[in-house]
Amino acid sequence: MGIQILAIGEVMLELAPAGEFNGKKLMALGYAGDTYNTSIYLARLGVRTAYFTRLGDDPYSRELLQIMVQEGLDTASIEAVPGRTPGLYLIANQPNGERNFSFWRGQSPAREMFSTKESSSALEKRLQEVNTAYFSGVTIGILSDEARATLLCALAEFRARGGKVIFDNNYRPQLWRDRAHAQLAMDQSLAVADIALLTDDDAERLWGSGKPEDILDRCITAGVSEVVLKRGPNPVVVAIEPRDGQYQQRIQVEVPPVAKVVDTTAAGDSFNAGYLAARFAGENIDRAAARGSRCAGVVIQHRGAIVEREIFLREISA
Ligand code: ADP
Repeated sequence: MGIQILAIGEVMLELAPAGEFNGKKLMALGYAGDTYNTSIYLARLGVRTAYFTRLGDDPYSRELLQIMVQEGLDTASIEAVPGRTPGLYLIANQPNGERNFSFWRGQSPAREMFSTKESSSALEKRLQEVNTAYFSGVTIGILSDEARATLLCALAEFRARGGKVIFDNNYRPQLWRDRAHAQLAMDQSLAVADIALLTDDDAERLWGSGKPEDILDRCITAGVSEVVLKRGPNPVVVAIEPRDGQYQQRIQVEVPPVAKVVDTTAAGDSFNAGYLAARFAGENIDRAAARGSRCAGVVIQHRGAIVEREIFLREISA
């Protein structure tokens, strides 16, 4: 059977604090990235998912490819660039419980997606074979202006042929020249999206308001037909059926309380996987939002973006 969704983005090496040894810090190696996290959880939930990115040909890129295959992801669209290595980030735990991230991603091969003829035609070819494409504010943030335009143009054509496009705003200010630059690109992204999965915090920082009314206004103007607004522990807002300048159906779905939140990394990414898996299975927006929260609820009770496969599958079905 064919692929249901093609996710496009960047996955990096992640080093997270893991104690001490002989007075030196130990770091645990993992792999993560917003669109990658969503893809892993989609595959675990039974959605046939392909991941589009560029890696190096070093041992870590090879291990990452192996992990993706084990997780059931289609890796046919991943280019291994000779002599290169993927991006890397380190997590530092602050005494106040906050986490700091330091990035080494300037040289990441993913940043050059769609900046060569080969990479753009690989995307166009792959878009002929799928029904749905998924990308995020990080995907567009790592690209040059020209490469971003190439991606958005390919997605617009894909959509004109009947393809469905899904976008998560994941705003990371450090990836952008300034806020106006990000606003323009994010609005262009909304304009090619059928489904927008947004977070109120990101919307507030990006557009100056995290209020559902303001976000829905922006989405309806851009022509988005389904909007999902994630608001941390607050009810999720879902709006569909745009007509006469308004979403005709708008609901709020409670988020079940999580007694012990350990680490909210990938809360939004895993929510998206739960929501989309349910929508692909034909569930209505209430049930899909509940599935999203369930998925995120499991993930935030564990450290790191990717919860161990067995633990995730056990807890999600409990
Ligand atoms: P992001 O990770 O993109 O910042 P949010 O913080 O809005 O996204 O969280 C995404 C989803 O994760 C929420 O819609 C909710 O389902 C779940 N979630 C996040 N924080 C909590 C929490 N403290 N308790 C329970 N669920 C949460």
